[in-house]
Amino acid sequence: MKALVYYGPHDIRYEEVPTPQPGPGQVLVRVKAVSICGSDLAGYKAVSAMRKPPLIMGHEFSGQVAALGEGVHGIQPGDRVGVVTNLYCGTCRNCHDGLTNVCDYRYIIGTTMKAGSYNGAMAEYVVAPAEKLMPLPDSVSYEECALVEPLSISLRAVKHAGRLDGKTVAVFGVGPIGLMGVMCLRIFGAARIIAIDVMENRLQMARECGATDVINSNDDVEGIIRKMTDDTGVDVVFDAAGIPQTVNRAIEIARNGGTILMVGMASPTFEIEYKHAVVKELRLQASYMYTSEMREGLQLIIDGKLDVKKMITGRYPLSEGPRIFEELASGKTQDVKVILTND
Ligand SMILES: [Zn+2]
Ligand SMILES: [Zn+2]
Repeated sequence: MKALVYYGPHDIRYEEVPTPQPGPGQVLVRVKAVSICGSDLAGYKAVSAMRKPPLIMGHEFSGQVAALGEGVHGIQPGDRVGVVTNLYCGTCRNCHDGLTNVCDYRYIIGTTMKAGSYNGAMAEYVVAPAEKLMPLPDSVSYEECALVEPLSISLRAVKHAGRLDGKTVAVFGVGPIGLMGVMCLRIFGAARIIAIDVMENRLQMARECGATDVINSNDDVEGIIRKMTDDTGVDVVFDAAGIPQTVNRAIEIARNGGTILMVGMASPTFEIEYKHAVVKELRLQASYMYTSEMREGLQLIIDGKLDVKKMITGRYPLSEGPRIFEELASGKTQDVKVILTND
């Protein structure tokens, strides 16, 4: 089969590789749509512990069942499916506690974890455990389904905020995760959703996704929010960026006793206004990956509660992958979400 094989920073090649064979309990999925994630791009741009070459990336995808391994029942070749990509062990302490998202022994399709690498969906075919398949109704397209994984990240973070009815929430960074955060905040009843980003096209998209207000990061974000909230600050901040500026701004604009949802992690290490966060008794709540949220996110799409399609700004055949990665890495495009397809 053909696949995009990652060999190291700025080196992805479209080439022939052996087609994987499904083992017992596994299925072979013919990939229909696979989305490029910010984490894939990070691995493309620089050495990342989560992308050890050679590796076929791709953890946001959907497809059609092509072949069944031994002992798989209830699934037919031709079935349209999404795939839950977190392959947790199911027996460790974290898994027992329901924290399958931080299982120490998990594989994630399309990445490298402590347990090892698992080839992903930037290929014609990918192998997945049958129990990880999510049947896809005809009403949901392959492209929409490829966005369920990033949606689940945003959904989990928003669930961490608790009751949102009538609350004011600021969202830093409205790339795919922030935009889906805006959509989820809306569903969960947030009254006012303030999107903050440096790119005007993204702020425009945030409005289309349900943001009630937008602020360009180059403006006086703190001053504008103080005015908007009668000097009290926002109840919740959803930080999809995770850089020194956004985290410290979040601490500044959150109201006393407010919550900061830590989702983005673009900068691994930096200084924060720690004392300021303590004396405001802020709740700094990290949110990582998903547990049950992929299936819940797909259900939201099936129920017509949100429309993830609108953030897809580019569609290309898999064969153009090397060029697309280079273009996205250069930062010159205004793309929000790009999908690679196999026809
Ligand atoms: Zn991702
Ligand atoms: Zn585990």
